[in-house]
Amino acid sequence: MTSALQVHHLEPSSKVNGPGQRAVVWLQGCTLACPGCFNPLTHAPKGGASYAVDSVYQWVQSLPPESTGLTISGGEPLQQLSPLIQLLQQVRANTTLSVILFTGYTWEEIHKMPGASALMGLLDVCIAGRFQQASRLAHHLAGSANKTFHFLTSRYSPANFEQVEQAEIILAPDGEIRISGINPPAL
Ligand code: SF4
Repeated sequence: MTSALQVHHLEPSSKVNGPGQRAVVWLQGCTLACPGCFNPLTHAPKGGASYAVDSVYQWVQSLPPESTGLTISGGEPLQQLSPLIQLLQQVRANTTLSVILFTGYTWEEIHKMPGASALMGLLDVCIAGRFQQASRLAHHLAGSANKTFHFLTSRYSPANFEQVEQAEIILAPDGEIRISGINPPAL
């Protein structure tokens, strides 16, 4: 069965969405409605664009050789869990890229989802939990203090995340200027 991902944006090179030089997939669609959400444009389920899983994987294969990892963010990635697992299975089987997932679901909620155990075998780090405006942190890749970090392989430790800068300006080849990171106002 052909499977597709609803994608908000694909960023081939970022240094503020996890340790090292990382590609970032922001998936489109989120119903969790955290007050103060930093990216409401990702909420509409039909926003962005639909890509076949294989097309997103081909984009991963075209990343620059210095890429060290792939970050999955949103929107809410786990509202597209099945095609996300299909993508990450290809990434894990055929690349050495590390995989970091940002999700608004709590660790407990994730483990009640069908497919959770398959997902966990495809991640290096999962950062979980709703954004809580009252406990906003916006550093070390934690949007708010309630976020929980789960290191699922030995590839990274908390110290790696403490070294990640808060924000960056990306000048795209087409001239577009984008700001990314856990705390864009820091710029
Ligand atoms: S889970 Fe993320 S994208 Fe969804 S409302 Fe909360 S902060 Fe926004």
